[in-house]
Amino acid sequence: MIPMVDLKAQLRDIKDEILSSIEEVVSSTTFILGPKLKELEQGIAAFHRMKSAIGVASGTDALHLSLLAAGIGKGDEVITTPFTFFATVEAILYTGATPVFVDIEPDTFNINPDLIEERITGRTRAILPVHLYGHPAEMDKIMDIAKRNNLIVIEDCAQAFGANINGRPVGSFGIAGAFSFYPSKNLGAYGDGGMVITDNETLAEGVRRLRNHGASAQYMHDITGFNSRLDEIQAAILLVKFKRIGQYNELRRKKAHLYSELLKGSEVIPPVERPGYYHVYHQYTIRSQKRDELQKTLRQRGISSVVYYPQPLHLQKALSFLGYREGELPEAERASKEVLSLPIYPELEESVIERIAKTILEIC
Ligand SMILES: *Cc1c(COP(=O)(O)O)cnc(C)c1O
Repeated sequence: MIPMVDLKAQLRDIKDEILSSIEEVVSSTTFILGPKLKELEQGIAAFHRMKSAIGVASGTDALHLSLLAAGIGKGDEVITTPFTFFATVEAILYTGATPVFVDIEPDTFNINPDLIEERITGRTRAILPVHLYGHPAEMDKIMDIAKRNNLIVIEDCAQAFGANINGRPVGSFGIAGAFSFYPSKNLGAYGDGGMVITDNETLAEGVRRLRNHGASAQYMHDITGFNSRLDEIQAAILLVKFKRIGQYNELRRKKAHLYSELLKGSEVIPPVERPGYYHVYHQYTIRSQKRDELQKTLRQRGISSVVYYPQPLHLQKALSFLGYREGELPEAERASKEVLSLPIYPELEESVIERIAKTILEIC
């Protein structure tokens, strides 16, 4: 079976470096908030030309702690997309705020900025766009709406490390950017991990405190926080991969472009890349009205594919209390019936892409 991702292919090249980086941590016996984390935070802040980067325990926590540090809580509304991983909305709910869903653009699958303003109320405090599959959301329009309505913006960059718009990296537009280092993400650890980037000193200090039990100094607790630090061993692993993230993303793009070239003339719709938008292809996601048939046949022929996501968030059972109905967010609902993500990772062989594309052309 051709897998969606093959972390072993990546490991072959970097295993020795990873093991010696882990060995350094083990020998140092500093496992929490040590020099590797500091080096990673400084590197990632510099990469994004931001003042601060704060390592946390997961991407979900990166979102949650950013929202809390920005003062979002009960009674507030946060505008976001219904077409994302569930964690985006969990982070909003953890703060006590109410998520408000705005439908997506059918081509990029990201929140449609033209529909945001009609959902702004007196309680709206923030917009939380997601750079889904690695394609940046329309940040110019989103930032403009936020400024005019006095809202903050927190970016969910979990799927988009290294993506940019005309050279400006995602995560650097809003007050904070939240990243995930879940193993299969473009920059993946060997366990859970996440990071917040920001230029706002108050927000940085807030996240730093929240991740460490609300402490400003050892055993001095200003507020009730969390245990949400990024392990030193994970930081050691991430440092090895962070050096190569540009190259990994370039390889993903190359593979994606080959897919799109080969799929020309078929019935399936390949992903778009808006001019000036640097897509990092966390997923290579096509659309087809015969999606389920296509997936079944691919499976029979030994090719993996996954539907991200089969149910938009506004129709999830856990969120039924929000009172959304089927038909309310038609583009997200249509996308959930038509999208299909194909295998993509930096080491994916071109001959394999050719085989997958040929199979799709035969089916469609
Ligand atoms: C992976 C992901 C998250 C959550 O990240 P974790 O590190 O798994 O907690 C949040 N949002 C999106 C869009 C994701 O893809």
